Parts: sequence; C-alpha cells; structure tokens
Amino acid sequence: MDMIPITEALKLIDENTPTLPIELVSIDEALGRILAEEIFADMDLPPFDRSQMDGFAVRSVDVASAPVRLRVIGESIAGKGFDGEVKEGEAVKIMTGARVPIGADAVQKIELAKTEDEFVEILKSVEPQENIVLQGEEIKKGTSVFCIGEQVTERMIPTLASFGYKQIKVYQRPIVLILSTGSELVEIDKKPMRDEIRNSNSIMLYSFLKKIGIEAEILPNLPDDKDALADLIAEKILSDDKQKLLITTGGVSVGDYDFTKTIFKQMGARIFFERVFLKPGKPTVFAKLDQSLIFGLPGNPVSAAVTFYLFVRRALLRMQGAVNVELRKGFAVVKERLKAARDRDAVLPVFVSTDERGRLVVESLKFAGSSNFIAFARSNALVHIPVKRDLEREEIAQVWFLD
Ligand code: AMP
Ligand code: MG
Repeated sequence: MDMIPITEALKLIDENTPTLPIELVSIDEALGRILAEEIFADMDLPPFDRSQMDGFAVRSVDVASAPVRLRVIGESIAGKGFDGEVKEGEAVKIMTGARVPIGADAVQKIELAKTEDEFVEILKSVEPQENIVLQGEEIKKGTSVFCIGEQVTERMIPTLASFGYKQIKVYQRPIVLILSTGSELVEIDKKPMRDEIRNSNSIMLYSFLKKIGIEAEILPNLPDDKDALADLIAEKILSDDKQKLLITTGGVSVGDYDFTKTIFKQMGARIFFERVFLKPGKPTVFAKLDQSLIFGLPGNPVSAAVTFYLFVRRALLRMQGAVNVELRKGFAVVKERLKAARDRDAVLPVFVSTDERGRLVVESLKFAGSSNFIAFARSNALVHIPVKRDLEREEIAQVWFLD
C-alpha cells in the first residue's frame, strides 16, 4: 500500500469513521459532549420589557419638561411586577430586572429622582425606551442558538439552562481500548531490568483521552508475540458487536518483530492506510475490524503523541458527530531555524509563546530524537514543517495548539 500525504490520511479518517448513536444526558453531564440536537430559545429574553436601573417607571411625555412631580402608584420588583397601568402624572417605583408596567415607556434612575411621601420629583427628562431592555431584544423565542455537532463548553451551560434543557441529546462517547505492545515493556511500578523500559504510552494515551472526556480502558501490555496479540484482539474486538476504538502502540515498523499490522490483516481488518508522509509517525496504521476502528501507532512516545493528536483525536471527534475536528490553528514567527525532513512533512511538538512585541513565536524543543518525551513534556503546540522546506528565523510557521 502506498505512502500517502497527511491530508489524504485525514480524508480517509473522515470517510471511514461512522458517527455513534445518540443518547440523552443530564445538563450536568453535558460538558464536552457533542450536541445531537439543535438548541432553541424556548422564550423571549427578556421575557418582558425589563428595567436596567433602580428608579421610576414613567411616561416619557410626562417628564419631558423635568423637573416634574409624579404620583407613585406602586412598585415593580424582580419576580413580582406591577400589574396596574401607569397613567398621566403617575410613576411606579421599579427595581433593576423588574417588569416595566403598562403605560410606562421609560425608566429614570433613582439618583435623578427625589421622593416625598407618595410623590416623586423626576429631576431630568428621559427618552422613550431609556433604561429599558425590550421584550425579546436579546433573543426571540424560537431562535436557534446552537447547532448539531457543536461541542458543549462551560460557557454554553447558562444558555442551555436558561432555555430549559435539563436533558440534552448528545452523541455517545466511544469505547476506547489502549494496548501497548513490545517485549521490552514493564509496568510503571517495576524496576526495568537490562533491555527493559517502562511503558509510558498507555498512561499517556489514557491521559490524552481523559483530557477530552473519554474514560479509556488500558489493556495489559503484550510482548511482541503474534499469538498473544491475535488472542487479545479476538477477545476484545471480535467477541461482541460493540463499536470500539482500539489504539495500539509499537510493532508497526519494518523490524523482524513488528507484526501488529500483519495480525490486523490476518484477522480480517480492512486497512485504510499504513504509511503516511509524516515525521514522526510514518508507519501509522488506520484500520477497521468488524464494527471497530483500530489505530496502530508507532511505539516512540513522541510519535505516538503526534499521531494521536493528528489522527486519533480526529476520529474520536468524528465518532461523536463533531463538526469541528481540527486542532486550533495559528501562525507564529520562527525563533530559530526549524529544519525540514528530506522525504516527509514534519509535525513536531514545539513551544509557542508571546514575545515582548506581542507576537506569537515558535521555538523547537531541542529533541535528541523522537523518543525524547522529556522535551515533549514542555510542548504546547505542533508545528508543521513542509518537506524539504526549512523554516528560517523570522518566517511564519503554521502551528496547531495542544489545548
Ligand atoms: P516500535 O514502534 O515498537 O519500534 O518502538 C519504537 C521505540 O519506542 C522503541 O525504542 C520502544 O522501546 C519505544 N516504545 C515502544 N512502546 C513503548 C511504550 N509503550 N512506552 C514507552 N516506549 C515505548
Ligand atoms: Mg517494538
């Protein structure tokens, strides 16, 4: 199978990632979920002509030649508006947020009024509608406010609450399994023997997923052993017809013990791509087995991270019906030359900051190799370096923020 450009890989993910079914969640569980229903205003806001001030509701014609004295016939407070009508020569005391009574068309603020017994002296005239927010001025009943496919942010919650969405239709979250393969791997709490390293990929991927609201299952590490991998896939993917997403790391290169891809194929997986013009991450595999999707990521922690951000994250969002599946894009000034790869586009973790002139600047992380997860720890973005096209100092680079 041919090596494909990154854009082609993204297209194949979009085309082959089915959207999950819809479920109903309570508003307190909605954060981060993708809307499966359009959200409408179920009432006018404000629901009545609302006072913006503490003061007096008046007829603007009555106070045109202020100062004038008006009779105070009642009060309008939040939660209990004045039900009578304001007639010539009359005023109603009103609080911020309260309903403006019939007959009144303006509010004069309390600082420009003087009360004495049942009268008020309005010291200054007001324009019609002054200090009033008219019914429906903020939004009209029936207006669409959020679309299907939008992700619920914490800032959308008050709108959902205001329009009565105690429960919200969202797309289901994917069931995600994480599997690290490699005979050199030991658990985090073990002291590695000679030739061994601790498995950092599983918990890394778990944390990436947690950050986007997905609680994944970490499967026990596997050695580079064909049968063990085949057995595990049979048990975890083929034994039921649930739609899952399996992320594996390791064993996708061309070494003698790299056979995750071979096993996927043997078990009947359809491979959509298995090599991408990307550094790091060339041997990334995207496949479908039964109902489930599989991403076979390289074992290098940084390669696994980059390919997660570029590919797996996108598929997870697509599964949940998200309209926006891109990482947030930006442009930053290159601080020191970023060297291109000769045969592939490079996508590298970098540090983007704001310089003293307020410009976004991008600096590389002094990678000692793609296994340098310590430098990676300080990254906050990915930079795109097109093939054979070094980015020189002061050039503008495209970055994707990892926030
Ligand atoms: P592989 O893709 O299997 O060739 O692995 C590439 C490199 O990544 C090797 O140096 C591995 O030791 C390392 N590696 C593979 N899997 C993991 C893992 N789960 N955690 C940390 N490093 C890993
Ligand atoms: Mg390996």
